[in-house]
Amino acid sequence: MTRIQDQYKDTKKLWDLYSENTQEKFTQVKDIVNEASKNISDNAFTRLSVVDVRCVIDAIDKVYLGGYIKDIVGTNLLVELSNRMTSSAGSIRTNITFYTFLLKISKIIFLLPENRGGYTVNGLFCQHRLDALISVVQHELAHMIDYIFFFSSGHGSRFKGLAHNLFGHITASHEMHTPNSLRLSTPKEVVAKMFGNDSPYTTAANKMATTSSRIYVGATVSFKHGGTTHQGEVKRITKRATVIIGPKKWYVPVKMLTLVTKKIIKVKLANLNG
Ligand SMILES: [Zn+2]
Repeated sequence: MTRIQDQYKDTKKLWDLYSENTQEKFTQVKDIVNEASKNISDNAFTRLSVVDVRCVIDAIDKVYLGGYIKDIVGTNLLVELSNRMTSSAGSIRTNITFYTFLLKISKIIFLLPENRGGYTVNGLFCQHRLDALISVVQHELAHMIDYIFFFSSGHGSRFKGLAHNLFGHITASHEMHTPNSLRLSTPKEVVAKMFGNDSPYTTAANKMATTSSRIYVGATVSFKHGGTTHQGEVKRITKRATVIIGPKKWYVPVKMLTLVTKKIIKVKLANLNG
């Protein structure tokens, strides 16, 4: 039986994993996930579970990697969702002694209303939230494969080549919103820049742009009170929003709040041990 430990520097085995027609394969993965996962349909989701992420991994494994993960990595790949990862959309850690991998997906970033779609991940345009999830999982799996074959981590040129050969990735970063770094540009502007004003993507992004000012937990907001403008962070939303400003809590009607957008920050997907 082939073990993970025996894969080291066996580049022939690695070449077997390289893909052509990565765009077609991407569509196949989406079809499988829409059909088979619990919370994902129509390329969208507002809830996310570990089972859903496993479904994405299995579909990528089947379509791109010919079952490599199932056959060789097996139960050595663990999956977790995180509510604390606020700058990385995904990460993967390696236990060097036991060749186990822990893939984490930031639930908080993926479920932000602003991250429905209209941004790039790994240099590829994501029209829907599912596009981004697949691309982020692929990126982390590329790190795992890089480690298995080269004991290597990070985003060096070999890694970039590997991610390109496996999944067609062009960069190793995403432009998703993070809880406190909303993009200045609207989805419409981002898409129009990439595809021009007349494309169907731009029309879709227009629709998204109208809902992109929604208030969410973790957002920085401002409101007026007694002639002064206050700024703080949303901690809770019921009928009113709980806004934290220093040591004080304010209870403010949601419609009085204005979302404060911050400068665009490009976030690296994740370093292997970061
Ligand atoms: Zn990375």
